[in-house]
Amino acid sequence: MISFHQVNKHYGSFHVLKNINLHINQGEVVVVIGPSGSGKSTMVRCINRLETVTSGELVVDGVKVNDKNTDINKLRRDIGMVFQHFNLYPHKTVLQNITLAPTKVLGVSQKEAEETALYYLEKVGIPEKAEMLPTQLSGGQQQRVAIARGLAMRPKIMLFDEPTSALDPETIGEVLDVMKKLAKEGMTMVVVTHEMGFAREVADRIVFMDQGTILEDSTPEEFFASPREERARLFLSRIL
Ligand code: ADP
Ligand code: MG
Repeated sequence: MISFHQVNKHYGSFHVLKNINLHINQGEVVVVIGPSGSGKSTMVRCINRLETVTSGELVVDGVKVNDKNTDINKLRRDIGMVFQHFNLYPHKTVLQNITLAPTKVLGVSQKEAEETALYYLEKVGIPEKAEMLPTQLSGGQQQRVAIARGLAMRPKIMLFDEPTSALDPETIGEVLDVMKKLAKEGMTMVVVTHEMGFAREVADRIVFMDQGTILEDSTPEEFFASPREERARLFLSRIL
């Protein structure tokens, strides 16, 4: 579903992604971890071309992401993304936040979009919040709306970049539970997170990045039992 072949990215003279090779199958959940500044966000953002790669090839669902003939809007429709900050429209209700893209981008009728929105609000556990404004919700609830909004586009892939990092500790669990459920249902997911409990329980694979390279790509069992790399060991000892 997602294939990085020898991908490099530079910001000016700064080499941020170095020779990335990563292959993610349909239905796989890959958790990306590593120190701040190691290139996790940049790598994930290349998948839907929020960042462009400098060299190498990146193929998503059979489409060459950086080919000039690629329909970037179509690519992005198939990829949901959830960020640390929820980026909900503050003056629109929860329901309007979720129905906006399906009606404007997919051309779905308002009625059908609302039914779909309610279905996904149900799925993330807050159907009763449909008519509220984002500011009337807790951080965890807002992030669940953001997830429902992504799902309403019926994506093939969901990308999560530190989705719980801005949340109060007591609401982190409710967001992770939704992500867990999504993983169980077979969604292809790439998740940048510092939540090691989630990584251990939900990930099919852990990718450890440091200074723009993938240092390890292994199962959680292997990774947490004995990271092969000293830098991974050091990282774990600091955050666990
Ligand atoms: P992570 O998500 O692992 O913290 P990032 O992918 O955000 O890392 O950033 C990797 C490196 O690239 C950092 O050193 C960061 O300062 C740098 N960087 C990120 N975005 C830009 C940008 N737009 N221009 C220049 N440097 C950037
Ligand atoms: Mg980041």
